[in-house]
Amino acid sequence: MPEATICAVATPSGRGGIGVIRVSGPQTAEIARAVAGPLPPAREAAWRRFRGAEGETLDEGLILWFPGPGSFTGEDVAELQGHGGPIVMDRLLQRLLGLGARLAEPGEFSQRAFLNGRMDLTRAEAIADLIEAGSEAAARAAVRSLRGEFARTVDQLVERLTGLRVHLEAGIDFAEEPLDGLALDDVTHRITALEGDLAETRRRAAQGQQLQEGLTVVIAGRPNAGKSSLLNALAGRDAAIVTELAGTTRDVLDAHLHIDGMPLRVLDTAGLREGGDVVEQEGVRRARQAMAAADRILLVVEDAAGGDADDQSGVASIERELPPGIPMTRVINKIDLTQRPAGLAGEAVAVSALTGAGMDTLRDHLRGRLDVSDSEAVFIARRRHLQSLDQAGAALAEAHAAAADELGEELVAESLRQAQQHLGEITGTVTTEDLLGRIFSTFCIGK
Ligand code: GDP
Ligand code: ZN
Repeated sequence: MPEATICAVATPSGRGGIGVIRVSGPQTAEIARAVAGPLPPAREAAWRRFRGAEGETLDEGLILWFPGPGSFTGEDVAELQGHGGPIVMDRLLQRLLGLGARLAEPGEFSQRAFLNGRMDLTRAEAIADLIEAGSEAAARAAVRSLRGEFARTVDQLVERLTGLRVHLEAGIDFAEEPLDGLALDDVTHRITALEGDLAETRRRAAQGQQLQEGLTVVIAGRPNAGKSSLLNALAGRDAAIVTELAGTTRDVLDAHLHIDGMPLRVLDTAGLREGGDVVEQEGVRRARQAMAAADRILLVVEDAAGGDADDQSGVASIERELPPGIPMTRVINKIDLTQRPAGLAGEAVAVSALTGAGMDTLRDHLRGRLDVSDSEAVFIARRRHLQSLDQAGAALAEAHAAAADELGEELVAESLRQAQQHLGEITGTVTTEDLLGRIFSTFCIGK
């Protein structure tokens, strides 16, 4: 199809000393010449005045010329680097529009790069993630995906799957006899190895997804222990309602915050206790649901001298009720009432949500427990990647079972084909218009 020539400011608005306008499409050379005179040699920068329709100087700066197909989008691309004030950038854009370009949609440059085979989907998404990265660790992981490491790892899995399929299907089509037990044994071994590597890839991708979207911490405890106050103290604002009436927080409250750049989703749950009215029971049910999906639970208890004996026995029963397998931090609250020193108290962290004492220790503790940024091996991944990896894993398991039970190589081959299909969805070798539209529409303009 004949593409329009598109343009957009590619640097964040209102920031930085320079502004970059990117132009891409068949009319790029013609438009760039009209604004900046003769084009510099490919991939080299030249200093130019940028001229308006009347020949007046709009700005001056660098022009870079990237002829297709070796450019970012695969089309002819030019970049104008001006001084970047918003008014200047706007005048330059207006000039380009006057010459026949149109404004790019969000993600349109990346979409063209993808469509022209310049980029696979994981890298396109990594660009969007980099722009929105909530933390340094997330940004590093996005860069790793941008370098194509995630895609390469998935491609290697696909290659091995293909090899296995070829091996099997050649046997199906050409052999007189079905594969014997020994050959199927070999296939089973190779499937087992693939399953292991797929699981490792999924582990790395899941960490990346957590980095990107933030880990979930659920605050639990008896009514009035100070859960909502603790959320407010963590969030540094009145995110939850705090009252002296037991059972005020009836639903699950959701706050997104950063601790030293680490994104966190903190949920304040209804107090765990028996009885109460219907609304409250519903709150308790949701609290249990939220806890079961948490990365960590903060169990808030009132400091001993502040809580009564009933409260102490209540804590033990709550601990028994917590979902198994989810790491837990016990937070002793209201130490201002008991003069207990703030900070670490054995396995627990002692705080006052009211005065803020001990809150820094709690933040450090959370950061230490939840940070995955040390791991060099994290890929930035999205939910859809994890889904595809899971589906591929399930298909591999079916292939494994079929091979082990000697159900016939056709069945094994079909399951392997499905596994390959699901992996292909990740890098975009297999994709649908719908999926593409969804992915690129989350991009910023200019990317
Ligand atoms: P929740 O039901 O567990 O969410 O508890 P809230 O956060 O609503 O707090 C219940 C009551 O305890 C409120 O009156 C709070 O002001 C009070 N409270 C919470 N944290 C502290 C604290 O650290 N010290 C003191 N003295 N009171 C607190
Ligand atoms: Zn509350």
